[in-house]
Amino acid sequence: MTAEAAYAELIRRSKELGLIHSCSAVLGWDHQTYMPPQGGKLRGEQMAYLASWAHQRLTDPHVGEWLATIETSDLVSDPESDAAANVRELRRAYNRATKIPSALVEELARVTAQAQQVWEQAKKNNDYPSFEPLLQRIIELKRQEADAVGYTDHRYNALLDEYEPGTTVAELQSLFATLTAELAPLVQKIVAAPRKPQTGILTREFPIERQKVFAEAAAAALGFDFAAGRLDTTAHPFCSGFGPGDCRITTRYNPRFFNEAFFGVLHETGHALYEQGLPAEQFGTPLGAACSLGIHESQSRLWENQVGRGHAFWEHFFPRLKQTFPTVLADVAREDFYFAINAVQPSLIRVEADEVTYNLHIALRFELELALLAGDLTTADLPGAWNDRFQTLFGLPVPDDARGCLQDIHWSFGGIGYFPTYTLGNLYAAQLMAAAKRDCPSLEDDFRGGEFGRLRQWLKTKVYRHGQRYRAGELCRRATGSLLSPQPFLSYLTEKFGSLYGVC
Ligand code: ZN
Repeated sequence: MTAEAAYAELIRRSKELGLIHSCSAVLGWDHQTYMPPQGGKLRGEQMAYLASWAHQRLTDPHVGEWLATIETSDLVSDPESDAAANVRELRRAYNRATKIPSALVEELARVTAQAQQVWEQAKKNNDYPSFEPLLQRIIELKRQEADAVGYTDHRYNALLDEYEPGTTVAELQSLFATLTAELAPLVQKIVAAPRKPQTGILTREFPIERQKVFAEAAAAALGFDFAAGRLDTTAHPFCSGFGPGDCRITTRYNPRFFNEAFFGVLHETGHALYEQGLPAEQFGTPLGAACSLGIHESQSRLWENQVGRGHAFWEHFFPRLKQTFPTVLADVAREDFYFAINAVQPSLIRVEADEVTYNLHIALRFELELALLAGDLTTADLPGAWNDRFQTLFGLPVPDDARGCLQDIHWSFGGIGYFPTYTLGNLYAAQLMAAAKRDCPSLEDDFRGGEFGRLRQWLKTKVYRHGQRYRAGELCRRATGSLLSPQPFLSYLTEKFGSLYGVC
């Protein structure tokens, strides 16, 4: 078989896998939104069938033969070519899928399914000891997974490769060291500042129907295409891109807290703009897929925080918000509202954290995951280690494990190596936004006028259209002129929160 023929077969298979994953995504979305409770058993069977079919199609020995034929040909001699990028990423997926023994895959699926149920109860009852043996088993299995996949320097690198290919422990350790060194003092200054926002503004009565209208209008203004997507309500908000022409986002409305649904919608809209902006003609191949979880998260954080919590954004939207909630906000000035949505408050819970303290929550989880995987920390000692480190980073005691090491679902599904992608998202978002403002100096004027097309176009050119052509670090270098650095993010925080709180 010629390399060209092998490549054609490989792309056909990749597109078939894209369709299978897209079908699973539709079923998954329905599961979270409209499926009746008794549909759960059948849905589980449907999803498992598709997952095992996708696994078979990916690990088919033909795929290995096609890859080998192409890799020794001229087809991939130019590393920047379409073929080289597709082959690089399909090789990565094929290796992960074939190197991990199926017995290990099955054992991980079994243990994590049980662990998620036990975790839910353990969190509810503040009962870490009931979850601990399962977490211990998950750590053991993830070590085996890392050994099967192979790695250099640290087992954790093999797990990172699943979420953020190309990023290493060494790189993350350096990023987090800078972040914790700079953020902890900034938090202390803010806490000590006499200026405080009136956060009570945000917990008045905001009728859900009106929140819905306002949030949908904002999503549409940012560029979410409602002819190619939907916004629905779920317990846990998410974005699921089925493929070209269909991207679903969800949110959760709280009548007594404005931020929850609104900034959730902006966040998911950021994810959705990326999905809706991927090159449709490449659907099902790596060139038509998002670059990494970190880059995906950078898109949600960019629209939620850099744009949506920005002053210019509210110069346009605050008068409209007042029209939507005329009595609730009658006595509220725009500057007070702006300060309230940007309140900084060290707190126990990651998902409720503000922009300044958020990454300290991730630094803590990253350190503990590394120590658990390396065997420097046992799962029995995890709560103590969590509480000590939390006290140092935040200056707060942890009252119980439910609000400590049991708060997140990630470890129960085996998502070791996932947390750092949130911080990478924040850092990429700040660096991309700084570069976009450099390239289009009047971007803030656009926002003041409720106009976001130029920013979207910039992101399309620099990020969306490339799919997985480059790894995240290289994509960032090409888009911004330099490799990822914590400095743009730290400058952004210091400038914004320094002036809000009158510190620095
Ligand atoms: Zn997100």
